[in-house]
Parts: sequence; structure tokens; C-alpha cells
Amino acid sequence: MLERCGATTVAIRQPAQLEGCDALVLPGGESTTMSNLAVRTGLFDAIARRLHDGMPALGTCAGAILLATTILDGRSDQRCFGALEVTVRRNGYGRQLASFETDLDVVGLGDPFHGVFIRAPKLESLGAGVAALASVEEFPVLVRSGAIMAATFHPELSDDARIHRLFLDGI
Ligand code: GLN
Repeated sequence: MLERCGATTVAIRQPAQLEGCDALVLPGGESTTMSNLAVRTGLFDAIARRLHDGMPALGTCAGAILLATTILDGRSDQRCFGALEVTVRRNGYGRQLASFETDLDVVGLGDPFHGVFIRAPKLESLGAGVAALASVEEFPVLVRSGAIMAATFHPELSDDARIHRLFLDGI
């Protein structure tokens, strides 16, 4: 999606790879495992430092959980970066069977964006500086705070690059 928007991308697996990057996407997956692996590889501290220094980031689904300040229903050893002032509940819409798709009205986009929610987290509260760009039944699903954006759905699965473009345009 980012390359479709004209950006050059690299998959980051080691801390040193971060050095040449201007921005980071934290993808979906399993946030407990991602936290665990990031700590073990040294990526956690490297990413935390860059986020602290203002590196723009887009977190999707599990990536949104990793960016949060507070995780509910997480594992006790699960870590997060605290780069986005939100309280997020893992699997907040239920288990895998409760995964769903729905059209979203997104601030700044004309036509609706088709959102794919896979064992999605729920954003239960936002800090004062966090703006909701789209919501489902009162709960924000796409938010922005300065250079940080987070989606509780998977914008890369909709064959629609507008959310990624919004992220790139913002940085
Ligand atoms: N349920 C996963 C978690 O808690 C997130 C799912 C996803 O990224 N699609 O990390």
C-alpha cells in the first residue's frame, strides 16, 4: 500500500535497520507475540527511542495495541510503547467469530472506507490530544495524535490506499 503511494519500504527485523527509516508501520498480528519478539531482538527499545524522538508511526490492529498507553485484557508481561494516549482492550469485539467488516465514514475522505476488523481491539478511551477520524457505534476505530495514527482494522486488506495516503500526507 505504501509503495502504491510512492513510498519506499523495508521490513524491519533488526534494530539497526530502523536507522534509515523516516516512519514506521506497526502491522497487525498478535500483540503479545510481537511485544515478546521485539523485546528479545532489541527492537522494542530501539523503536521506543525513535517514537520518543517523534518518528511518525501507523499502528494497525495489534500495532495499535503496541502504540497505546494502556492495554486491557493483555498479558501481564506484554509491553506497549505509550506513544498514543489511548486505553485499548484486546479482542474488544469478541473472539475470531466476532470479526466483521463495515463501511466507515472517515474524516478527510470522501467516499466510505471498507474496514476489515479481525479479532480487533477496542479503543475504550482517548486522551485529550487524540482525535477520532472514524468510529463504529461510538467507539473510535481510526485515530490520530500528531505524527501517530492507529486503526483497529486492517486498512491494507481493502485494496484502497487512502488511509496509508492520509498517513503519508500527515508526515
Ligand atoms: N487480537 C490480536 C491481539 O490481541 C490483534 C488482531 C489483529 O492484529 N488482527 O494482538
